[in-house]
Amino acid sequence: MIHDLGDMTSQLERLCAEKGLKMTDQRRVIARVLSESSDHPDVEQVYRRATKVDPRISIATVYRTVKLFEEANILDRHDFGDGRARYEEVPEQHHDHLIDVKSGQVIEFRNDEIEKLQRQVAAALGYRLVGHRLELYGIREAGRSDKADTTDASREPGKSGNGAPSGGAAG
Ligand SMILES: [Zn+2]
Repeated sequence: MIHDLGDMTSQLERLCAEKGLKMTDQRRVIARVLSESSDHPDVEQVYRRATKVDPRISIATVYRTVKLFEEANILDRHDFGDGRARYEEVPEQHHDHLIDVKSGQVIEFRNDEIEKLQRQVAAALGYRLVGHRLELYGIREAGRSDKADTTDASREPGKSGNGAPSGGAAG
């Protein structure tokens, strides 16, 4: 859902300002594209979306900028098993991911029992849990049209408006 790239300040831009990152126009565009993508895009996808706003942006700039944002801890990098780094704004509330291995679609979920269980496992090993990554890989069961039971499981990739060429998460 990309709208109004013109005048609003994205969450990432605000975080950049808080962290004191120097913002160029191109970085601003890349920050906005990332803020408005809910499909965990890779660098190529960020690049395609960013060049629609400013065709002068190079892929090298996109690489440098996501690295900068990642190092500033305002962007999360994921590896969903296909060897491509995928990015999302650091979320306000933690969530985990289920990856549809056929379509490449990434579904976000949160499950309090899993969260609790992980803390228990860490505690049993003598640790206080400070973070984790959990990725589930699945194939959609035939005939299931409803979404997963867990919360917040409705993000769809490729909904970038603008008539994006494919947005195909599977490449
Ligand atoms: Zn996510």
